[in-house]
Amino acid sequence: MEKEQYVCTVCGFNMVGYHPDLCPFCGAPKEKFITSEECSTRFIVKGTPVNEEVTRLNSVPALGFEHAAYRIETNGKTFWIDCPSCFDSSLKPADVITFTHHHFLGASNQYRDYFHAKVRIHKLDSAHSICRAFTFDVTFQENFVERGIEAFHTGGHTPGFTFYLFEDVLFICDYVFLKEGGMSFNPFGPQKETRECAFKIDRVLQGRNISKVCGFNYVIDYKDWKKRFARLLGKD
Ligand SMILES: [Zn+2]
Ligand SMILES: [Zn+2]
Repeated sequence: MEKEQYVCTVCGFNMVGYHPDLCPFCGAPKEKFITSEECSTRFIVKGTPVNEEVTRLNSVPALGFEHAAYRIETNGKTFWIDCPSCFDSSLKPADVITFTHHHFLGASNQYRDYFHAKVRIHKLDSAHSICRAFTFDVTFQENFVERGIEAFHTGGHTPGFTFYLFEDVLFICDYVFLKEGGMSFNPFGPQKETRECAFKIDRVLQGRNISKVCGFNYVIDYKDWKKRFARLLGKD
């Protein structure tokens, strides 16, 4: 039998198997929740190509705060980095859903069942109470490389925060926010750690040939992103 599942229309968080009074992610009242079935009738997930192998996935219309997930098709295997909040059964199946952190779990439990996908997250983030109803097949503790996708654990924004590189594309999720001409650290997290761990990100990026950056609500040229990031770190 299908478990009951609700989606918060303010933040997109999926509440699996229970109906709380307040959204455990953003605190919105239960009047703002819709059932997962209703969510799937009101929203679809749309793919927008980033390049030949990478596709941006977004709920349409935007679902609350809305965040992008990304699909990478590489050597016969399909990976998602993060997961849309809306369950759309018409999407091409994914083999692996791997997270940057525990903020954008989306409807990963449903996609896991439907696609028989393996879901991964860093061990430190898997322990957060927000993850209780979600199943992770792999809770990794080390950086890894698989089919050209490189995972780098940095912590900072969350203890298990992990960013990814695939060929010339950087997947940084919500570590930083873009604002007019500049950049700021994500304010929803420990500020000291976020700043300190940004230097780990910076070190990994040194000397890499990167052309695009995929964030939670943007895709931009690396040149532009890098300039803003350097300024944020006080490097220029
Ligand atoms: Zn919410
Ligand atoms: Zn986050």
